[in-house]
Amino acid sequence: MTERPYVIDEMITAKSIAARIEALSREIAAEFDDTDKLVVVGLLRGSFVFIADLVRELDLPIEVDFIEASSYGDAMESSREVRILKDLRSAIEGRDVLVVEDIVDTGFTLSHVIKLLQSRKPARLKTIALLDKPSRREVEIAADWIGFEIPDEFVVGYGVDFAQRNRNLPYIGKVRFTP
Ligand code: 5GP
Ligand code: MG
Repeated sequence: MTERPYVIDEMITAKSIAARIEALSREIAAEFDDTDKLVVVGLLRGSFVFIADLVRELDLPIEVDFIEASSYGDAMESSREVRILKDLRSAIEGRDVLVVEDIVDTGFTLSHVIKLLQSRKPARLKTIALLDKPSRREVEIAADWIGFEIPDEFVVGYGVDFAQRNRNLPYIGKVRFTP
């Protein structure tokens, strides 16, 4: 990827993300109120900030695990072919599982991960994504909880990168290339 100059326009503030996570956490806690221990699975790397904030709002017994699927590389387009680069450490058969994703775009990544995890026979498997771009969907899939629906824009921040940069922004912004 060449270093085309760009600026980042704020799209979702840190404050609104925090408020949304608080509300979603209450819904998730209600859904899993009978769990003995929920396995919260973050999809690396983009979800690392979201999962960190989410679990601190979740009033449930939990453990945290991570899975990594191949994604864009440094490009801005999905590769459509999903590979698992790092698998879970925990066995999830008979367990309650919540998969935490940053963005559902074409849907290939989440649908691949869900199929894989379903094949391991969890008791319950639910999904949450911070951002959803429904207009980009190519695979029919919907997360059980969504933070924000956004238009077809390339976004960064709050864990989400552009060529490995900008993950540390506290808000979600959209990339705008400058002449
Ligand atoms: P999908 O397989 O649904 O097309 O893509 C999902 C993955 O693509 C997300 O986990 C995310 O990492 C990446 N992605 C989708 N949209 C964006 C975006 O606007 N910005 C960035 N940085 N990554 C995105
Ligand atoms: Mg991702």
